[in-house]
Amino acid sequence: MTVQKISTGQRLSPAVSLTQVRHVYGVKETAVTALNDVTWNFTPGTFTAVMGPSGSGKTTLLQCAAGLLEPTTGSVFLGDHQLNGMPEKKLAIIRRDLVGFVFQAFNLMPALTAAENITLPLRLAHRAADQAWMNELAKRAGIANRLSHRPHELSGGQQQRVAICRALITKPRVLCADEPTGALDKASSKAVLSVLRDAVNELGQTVIMVTHDPVAAAHADQVLFLVDGRIVDVMETPTPERVAATMTRLAGED
Ligand code: ADP
Ligand code: MG
Repeated sequence: MTVQKISTGQRLSPAVSLTQVRHVYGVKETAVTALNDVTWNFTPGTFTAVMGPSGSGKTTLLQCAAGLLEPTTGSVFLGDHQLNGMPEKKLAIIRRDLVGFVFQAFNLMPALTAAENITLPLRLAHRAADQAWMNELAKRAGIANRLSHRPHELSGGQQQRVAICRALITKPRVLCADEPTGALDKASSKAVLSVLRDAVNELGQTVIMVTHDPVAAAHADQVLFLVDGRIVDVMETPTPERVAATMTRLAGED
């Protein structure tokens, strides 16, 4: 069986492009600048980890990239779609069709089976459930024999792998994950990270993952380091040791 690629590799434009993105929460004396002049192009079919101290703007960056949050200034493109300034209705459709989300807390529907959770985005979009694609994703994620189970019958690692399958079922342009292994033990984290890695290597998916774990970050192709809302460092082909050393250095400069 030939594997259907999510990204054709023919798309020349970045999967996600942030240009001079600045985000300020609150106003006047309560104003917090969470992102400060962030410019970055996420290359299609690559895995990027975003690291930085707590409060450095990681979640804000991910939410801007995913169209969940409109930056105060600057522009965000998802492929050819300019997200900033887009009417909310259109933006909701773009998010639904082109963005996959994975959260630390899994956020599965407790009353639905794993299979029903995975295909839920298609039902919400009034699209036909693609059983072959669901089975393919579940097989890759190692949960093919868990599809009839409900979330409470699954381990945390299995639940997160269901959540990743759910995020991939629509073949999104980008998969955004905010600390997807933050609630998992070492073995479960490893399984979840290898599913994300395979999604990039074998399906051509673009993944952006926020993490504070150097071991998790080392599964990525590159790591962006944020401090005070700015990208202060970029590392290619990271290793846990080099990532940890950079984090230590950045904490020291704080
Ligand atoms: P990280 O994910 O790196 O911990 P965040 O992006 O969540 O950082 O937050 C960046 C900064 O913005 C922090 O100072 C945080 O307190 C602030 N912040 C985040 N969300 C809000 C919000 N909804 N309202 C006000 N301030 C916020
Ligand atoms: Mg965060």
